[in-house]
Amino acid sequence: MQDVSKIAVLTSGGDSPGMNAAIRAVVRTALYHKLEVFGVYRGYQGMVEDDIMAMDSKSVANIIQRGGTILKTARSKDFLTPEGRKKAYENLKKRGINGLVVIGGDGSFRGARTFSAEFDIPCVGLPGTIDKDIGGTDLTIGFDTAVNTAVDAIDKIRDTMDAHDRVFVVEVMGRDAGYIALYSGIATGAENILIPETKTDMASVVNMLTEKEKRKKLVNLIVVAEGDDFGGGNYVGDYLKKHLPNADVRVCILGHIQRGGSPSCMDRLIASRMGYHAVECLLEKKYNVMVGVVNNRMHYTPLEEAVKAKQKLNSDWLKITRILAS
Ligand code: ADP
Repeated sequence: MQDVSKIAVLTSGGDSPGMNAAIRAVVRTALYHKLEVFGVYRGYQGMVEDDIMAMDSKSVANIIQRGGTILKTARSKDFLTPEGRKKAYENLKKRGINGLVVIGGDGSFRGARTFSAEFDIPCVGLPGTIDKDIGGTDLTIGFDTAVNTAVDAIDKIRDTMDAHDRVFVVEVMGRDAGYIALYSGIATGAENILIPETKTDMASVVNMLTEKEKRKKLVNLIVVAEGDDFGGGNYVGDYLKKHLPNADVRVCILGHIQRGGSPSCMDRLIASRMGYHAVECLLEKKYNVMVGVVNNRMHYTPLEEAVKAKQKLNSDWLKITRILAS
């Protein structure tokens, strides 16, 4: 395979705060190494539809602090087909693009892995997802911001639940991974945290709340991940209303506010480091890997493994939650 001389960068799948900082780092590092660099709009769909623009240093000015992604993101049905991927390849090839940086989640990495296996375009993936549901990295771009947004919102909910002696069920994002629930729940002193990684036993949640009711502890917070096996915040709320007739149970679904907003310092930092190293990987022929950070050092996982690996949840943390909230 020839040396990488022209690269493209795209953001794909769910957006996450810090993607702009990663784009900026990729573009500026590429320009530093005298590579030509292109931005692909709307993820793989823009690659299929030839929505590709040359980028310069100025095109990424003043974006490090902005949420969302200036390249926009999308889910692409066309890219799931061999014909769609061939079109995408031809659009890169006609510009001489011979390296691709994909910022996205595990679905986007699956796409990158398939694409690089079919065509002579090496790919490097950067984990951009608020859910922290990818193995091979301690951190994903956007998680820190999302979890801090959740903490800020739950703190506000706590003020009103305390004023009214209420039980509040707060649903946070996380379809397959409970990290946002776990981190934000511990940080806001939740009485219980319900996540997809562990079996939810609602009878024991009711017992715990009944026991607290007896002790006149009426203010109780339950943080639920949207992908919890019991069905999420509304199901948990309905169950508690039915089984705790004396309690004033309310439900709040935090929803998409967790995706937006200015990225935290931590997210800007890891996005900058990962973006820089993505280009270094392409130059050093470290192809088809995901760039991660493990124990504060750069860590490279083959895309093949990154799409399968999940982070191992520390179950100690749930025990800590129960003890601290007693
Ligand atoms: P995320 O990257 O946030 O997990 P998705 O799962 O929606 O988001 O994946 C983003 C895009 O990646 C999909 O819309 C699709 O175009 C592409 N993709 C996902 N899986 C594959 C695959 N097996 N082959 C080709 N493309 C894929």
